Amino acid sequence: MEYYNELWFSFTFDLLNSYDPYYEEPERLDSPEQLNNLLQKYGVLCDETVALKELTAVRAYRDRLRDLIISGSDEQLGEFLTESELRSPLRPRLNAQGDGNFRYVYNPPDKNTGSLADRILAVCSRTLGRELTLYGRPRLKVCVSDPCREIFSDHSKNGLQRFCSKRCSTRYHVKKHRESQ
Ligand SMILES: [Zn+2]
Repeated sequence: MEYYNELWFSFTFDLLNSYDPYYEEPERLDSPEQLNNLLQKYGVLCDETVALKELTAVRAYRDRLRDLIISGSDEQLGEFLTESELRSPLRPRLNAQGDGNFRYVYNPPDKNTGSLADRILAVCSRTLGRELTLYGRPRLKVCVSDPCREIFSDHSKNGLQRFCSKRCSTRYHVKKHRESQ
């Protein structure tokens, strides 16, 4: 497994956005089963069964993280992710590439290392920490097309992405156009 895993990235953002004010019922993680489905969708820690107390812990982490990303300071965000990393059972392996180059790789945390919630949060914190160190805070954005509050990482070349999706961009511009008439 690569140091950076596309599935961990998609999983992390899907989890962050599992509270979605775009819907009448914003809570998309209503039961342990829904969290199980999310794990399965991305093949992250998917051979385990989520218990209610883990769902509660994951939701609390998600809510705090959403708050911090939307309105916290850089320091608060950094501190929160650091605390989460301190509980993380993830350990990097320094992997020889065979050509004299080395790379840190992270394997999914083992079943016997801490609670499932801690392992899930470890994956998210590692992924977000990587986003922040590689791209910086300004690239971690919230969609501006009300009522959507989707969090996304802007990987565009110019860094001017404002919407989480084409859907939201269209919706925003149609609304703007109507208002101007
Ligand atoms: Zn959006």
